[in-house]
Amino acid sequence: MSEPIRPQPGIMEIALYEGGAAQVAGLSDAIKLSSNENPFGPSDRAKEAFQRAVHKLHRYPGTDHRSLREAIGEAHGLDPERIICGTGSDEIIHFLCQAYAGPRDEVVFTEHGFLMYRISALAAGATPVAVKERERTTDVDAILAACGRKTKLVFIANPNNPTGTMIGPAEVERLAAGLPKQAILVLDGAYAEYVEGFDGGAELIGRRSNVVMTRTFSKIYGLGGLRIGWGYGPKPIIDVLNRIRGPFNLSAAQQEAAEAAVRDREHVERCREENTRMRAWLAEALAEKGVPSDTSCANFILARFADEAEATACDQYLQSQGLIVRRVAGYGLPHCLRITIGDEASCRRVAHAVGQFKAGKGAA
Ligand code: PMP
Repeated sequence: MSEPIRPQPGIMEIALYEGGAAQVAGLSDAIKLSSNENPFGPSDRAKEAFQRAVHKLHRYPGTDHRSLREAIGEAHGLDPERIICGTGSDEIIHFLCQAYAGPRDEVVFTEHGFLMYRISALAAGATPVAVKERERTTDVDAILAACGRKTKLVFIANPNNPTGTMIGPAEVERLAAGLPKQAILVLDGAYAEYVEGFDGGAELIGRRSNVVMTRTFSKIYGLGGLRIGWGYGPKPIIDVLNRIRGPFNLSAAQQEAAEAAVRDREHVERCREENTRMRAWLAEALAEKGVPSDTSCANFILARFADEAEATACDQYLQSQGLIVRRVAGYGLPHCLRITIGDEASCRRVAHAVGQFKAGKGAA
């Protein structure tokens, strides 16, 4: 007899998302470089705003996030009426799938794309479609070839996680222009702030009715633990997403800390500069030790090893040295390790440990 109580189709196909490891057994001072967190943490102003919010924990938060949306609008030159805020950009991705994709619809993303696209598509009952990349880079022609009548959403992260690569504005525009009429292009800009002068696609969104962008406070703003993200898009799409958004999805503490964070442009600038400097340093240091990586545009690098066995052994050696990086076999990259750009001391420790490993010390 079949089970009478069953979840919606697709849900049992979801493999649980695993966050980056945070600890090494037996070590209390391990350095976590597994979740692309900002080693400098949030702006002091964000911390102060969070502390002030403690005095009104008994009050329900505002439902329309007006003040936060206005601050984001000011910082990025965007219309606040076309911004929606969520508990991380994960929630905006979820809203998009819930609102626009269902059974018999397809949600397209790249083969090494962020795992939540697949999870949110399945949660909505839609069919996830992973498209090949070219040399670990989004392939617009392959995506366009994979789209058809059933395609409702196309997600690309630009820069992409975990590859760190990105495509230029002309390619993004060609993708937007080539999609079937019923499909929305979602530009996931979780790492957009790490690219100097990059608007994440905002200008394109201003000119088109089929493009949406998602952004986050978890990366350069250093607020991953607080869970705040936002989306920007054509007004009709933002109106749809707001209908399924829980009215109290963001607490007052989230809204106020995020507002203070987005107003502190200096902190963002300093974090970007330091990331750019140490990313170039680490990529070069690893390359010198025989561990190549693609040019990364984000706050991590994807280090490539000879094969899965070598990546596994290096990961274990790094752990023994108190360094936690991210295995990315779940992203179809078993021979790679994704290493977050930490502060200078952490980067030096990683380079030293990888050098030791390559010199055969890790085998002992
Ligand atoms: N998109 C990409 C590409 C990411 O790497 C992440 C975080 N790992 C997210 C979205 C979600 O981030 P958050 O929910 O913290 O905003």
